[in-house]
Amino acid sequence: MMNFPALPAAACKDRAWVRQALELLQGDARRSADTHLVKPMLPGLKGISVYLKDESTHPTGSLKHRLARSLFLYGICNGHIGPGTTLVEASSGSTAVSEAYFAHLLQLPFIAVMPRSTSGQKIAAIERFGGRCHFVDHAGEVYAVAQRLADEAGGHYLDQFTNAERATDWRGNNNIAQSIFEQLQYEDHQVPAWVVMSAGTGGTSATIGRYIRYRNLATRLCVVDVENSAFYDAWAQGNRSVTAAGSRIEGIGRPRVEPSFMPHVIDHMLRIPDAASIAAAHVLSDRLFRRVGGSTGTNFFGLLVIADQMMQQGEGGALVSVICDSGDRYESTYYNPAWIAAQRLDLAPWRARIEAFLDHGTPLSGHA
Ligand SMILES: *Cc1c(COP(=O)(O)O)cnc(C)c1O
Repeated sequence: MMNFPALPAAACKDRAWVRQALELLQGDARRSADTHLVKPMLPGLKGISVYLKDESTHPTGSLKHRLARSLFLYGICNGHIGPGTTLVEASSGSTAVSEAYFAHLLQLPFIAVMPRSTSGQKIAAIERFGGRCHFVDHAGEVYAVAQRLADEAGGHYLDQFTNAERATDWRGNNNIAQSIFEQLQYEDHQVPAWVVMSAGTGGTSATIGRYIRYRNLATRLCVVDVENSAFYDAWAQGNRSVTAAGSRIEGIGRPRVEPSFMPHVIDHMLRIPDAASIAAAHVLSDRLFRRVGGSTGTNFFGLLVIADQMMQQGEGGALVSVICDSGDRYESTYYNPAWIAAQRLDLAPWRARIEAFLDHGTPLSGHA
């Protein structure tokens, strides 16, 4: 006779926890509306419509709210997160804020491994949600330290840099790309000429690039990188082993090419000087009557470079980019004149060029 073990009495014990966790995560999503697609008035940009997807209005203040939710769902549905699992993440801050929020929602311990230079506002937010911060001296150390802390606690390393591209459902399920294209449906240009996005994990640009292909859209994807980041050279040279010193624009630019960075769905890349990113964040903040973060400045400047080239070639159309987070998190850095002076950044010439372009269409390029 064959002997097989008896069937378990009920569904295995953690299934009740999983059901409750999914209800809590769905409840959080139901309490939020979709984020706005902002259309700023930029009179100099004749024939070009600019749209900015405002991800700063999520409950945890950045586009990482989407990623954290996806990483939690991915971890729970793969059986890596269960009752009492200690969660650990390597982060430059924004992801850890959102993950601390979801860990608090599910009453799970959370540890963020971050560079010591992470902004004080982000640290305060993580701690307010009951998370613990573990600091390292160099951005490149976060990965190994996070893995070690997770192993020691018998916990789970969420690993945004690896899992961002696979945890997000890129075909739809209200990902950022689907949301943007649906919001454009009744606009003059329903299919934008370009979407411009910076890269931290690379997950958002991967989702947008894949969605564009999946839906057969003519839109092209431009990824904007910053100084001291590995992504641009890796893309230009077709070499993933490039390394760099580490970016000073929080949330974007990485010392290594992250596994979630998908170069083959990117049509074009630009490297934006840090002074231009921060000047663009200042100008956009003035025009929106609220402060935007540094990576939003990178996005906006990249969008303007493309607008400038389109206008010089007599082309029109829509351009889309993302407001990744609010500038309120960067009071002591990008909005602090002493910090800017200490970094030896001269914003004035960039500001003047951006304003002349936005107001009068004076070409951004072609004059130094
Ligand atoms: C993470 C992040 C980005 C980049 O998004 P990815 O999907 O990780 O590439 C941009 N800006 C801010 C503020 C971020 O936190």
